[in-house]
Amino acid sequence: MAKIIAITNQKGGVGKTTTAINLGASFGVLEYKTLIVDADPQANATSGVGFDPREVTGSIYDCLIDDVDVKSLILETDNPNLSIIPAHIDLVGAELEMISISNREHRLKSALEQIKDDYDFIIIDCSPSLGLITVNALTAADSVIIPVQCEYFALEGLGKLLNTIKIIQSRLNPDLDIEGIVLTLYDTRLRLANQVVDEVKTHFQELVFDTIIHRNTRLGEAPSFGETIIMHDATCKGAINYLNFAREVLQKNDLTKMKNKDKQIF
Ligand code: ADP
Ligand code: MG
Repeated sequence: MAKIIAITNQKGGVGKTTTAINLGASFGVLEYKTLIVDADPQANATSGVGFDPREVTGSIYDCLIDDVDVKSLILETDNPNLSIIPAHIDLVGAELEMISISNREHRLKSALEQIKDDYDFIIIDCSPSLGLITVNALTAADSVIIPVQCEYFALEGLGKLLNTIKIIQSRLNPDLDIEGIVLTLYDTRLRLANQVVDEVKTHFQELVFDTIIHRNTRLGEAPSFGETIIMHDATCKGAINYLNFAREVLQKNDLTKMKNKDKQIF
């Protein structure tokens, strides 16, 4: 059964989508069957794995608002172990439409329950808001990964996010775990970047992943080719960072050993 991980941070531009698609692609090459759920109306994860959001015929919207069969929404990417449920600009309206729907916080959870057995990981790419779709993602998730950019004000807003997670834990999803904080967009040339790393590690200690994602031109340009970093340039620093990150997540979940034995650990 899949572990469901939401990639979240209400700040934009911190590397949520980059982490969702490249962690997903890395799990894929490590032979863990992975589904990305694009839960952001901007649909950057959808285009980042090669689909034009204006052309997709179904999107996550359809199972949040209507009872469309979730399996029919899944698209296969070029990576044989990586699939996606795309987003579409319609998702902007979904927040409003969902207000009157019963069980509105649990719509995504119910949908993903139908396909959980088909994957090792389901990664939800959240939008930079704490609206109803993000609440759905956090209610459906087993854990969250929080990308934090190595720049000024890195810690800003994290308190609010952790508070939101606490509220979700107490009201909607008591089992929600924090998988960890991943530092992103690290620039070796900036002394500030090291200060941010130290500050985040002092604050959050073992919650911070050892792997740090460096700022890497290839990572920045890959989405414009509709390619994950593995497809774009599997040997660049960005690809190596995300592969190491995937291995660290697997280790944290005690999954590396499991691959050769029984995959059904969760
Ligand atoms: P979010 O989803 O949090 O808004 P994105 O993942 O879309 O953030 O990243 C914001 C921008 O920064 C995008 O243009 C992305 O391509 C770029 N980017 C993200 N991570 C890196 C990185 N490690 N190196 C270079 N560019 C990056
Ligand atoms: Mg994004």
